[in-house]
Amino acid sequence: MARVCFEQVTKQYENGFVAVKNLNFEVAEGEFLVLVGPSGCGKTTSLRMLAGLESVSSGNIYIGDRNVNNISSKDRNIAMVFQSYALYPHMSVFDNMAFSLELQGYSRAETKERVQAAAQQLGIEQLLDRKPKQLSGGQRQRVAVGRAIVRKPTVFLMDEPLSNLDAKLRTQARVELSKLHKDLATTFIYVTHDQVEAMTMGTRIAVLNQGILQQIDTPQNLYENPANIFVAGFMGSPAMNFLTGTIQQEEDNLYVQTKSLKLPIPLEQQARYKEYIGKEITFGIRPENIYSEEFLPPKTEPFPVKAEVTVVEMMGHEAIVYCTLADGQELVARVDPRSHFNPKETVTLLFDLNRFHLFDREQEHQL
Ligand code: ATP
Repeated sequence: MARVCFEQVTKQYENGFVAVKNLNFEVAEGEFLVLVGPSGCGKTTSLRMLAGLESVSSGNIYIGDRNVNNISSKDRNIAMVFQSYALYPHMSVFDNMAFSLELQGYSRAETKERVQAAAQQLGIEQLLDRKPKQLSGGQRQRVAVGRAIVRKPTVFLMDEPLSNLDAKLRTQARVELSKLHKDLATTFIYVTHDQVEAMTMGTRIAVLNQGILQQIDTPQNLYENPANIFVAGFMGSPAMNFLTGTIQQEEDNLYVQTKSLKLPIPLEQQARYKEYIGKEITFGIRPENIYSEEFLPPKTEPFPVKAEVTVVEMMGHEAIVYCTLADGQELVARVDPRSHFNPKETVTLLFDLNRFHLFDREQEHQL
């Protein structure tokens, strides 16, 4: 059984700094869990505790049904792929991959068989005689993965294994890792600060901030239903727009009043927000839910907003429009690239009021 469970896990380093606070989550056998969050949020510390490279200050970590708090790294049956790959420079690819098997006492024949099988799976059979310095970045990354899979561990741990690759290779490697996960049907726990990697590979994603778990959910649920402002702002690129305001009532209708906008809440959503009338909130709308008048898809609830364009980034398949509202608030929209927007022009943007989020301004959780 390769389920992994963190139970109230806290890590306090010797200098007193608490890097991970009361972390609780469970990863089912065969899942691809991504730990994501900004630099310093405690991702690597969590992974290192699971790997046995760092002690747990309090709480328990289980692999399968076994509490591994006091079990040494080599007896946890896990394999870890590091950002640096940590290949031995003086050894060939074959020997790098064979090393841990030989340490574990596998026969030469079985070692060879396992290395060959892994090399074939990763398409690196022709590289087995080379030294790491004779490999490209992408090839080194595969060797590092190969060295992990030969051991047939019950859990794979990966710490930013793609961060040394260029953008194109990274996209390709993401697909390869997803495929490898399906082929091996083993639990993967993967650390990254890159929300695109998290969204594309994770069967579930755990978002950490300042050592605290913010939300753990499927990529789609995190995106559609973020628990708080941090998750809403972290997942999605460009990030969600936030406007501060209050919920108000006029006759029987609810609306959000920001500094310069009076945004009607659609009828079917009014019941959900009725109890918050008068409350100070943060209104959130994603750039992709703001449209140009020329390219408005069906099934939207468009609300016109005037804004002055500052910069247009043409991406080919979309245009990112940076603009400013009358009250000085900045806004980003992701629109059809055929829209006619030019810097310094005042334009009409359409908010889709079927797709907004409201957060408690003080507590920051979604209402
Ligand atoms: P990054 O993406 O930058 O690697 P991370 O989310 O993986 O960040 P960690 O490496 O887990 O973050 O570090 C979490 C916090 O703990 C950081 O503030 C870091 O400075 C601190 N930290 C890490 N190692 C130690 C240590 N040995 N002693 C004291 N503090 C540490």
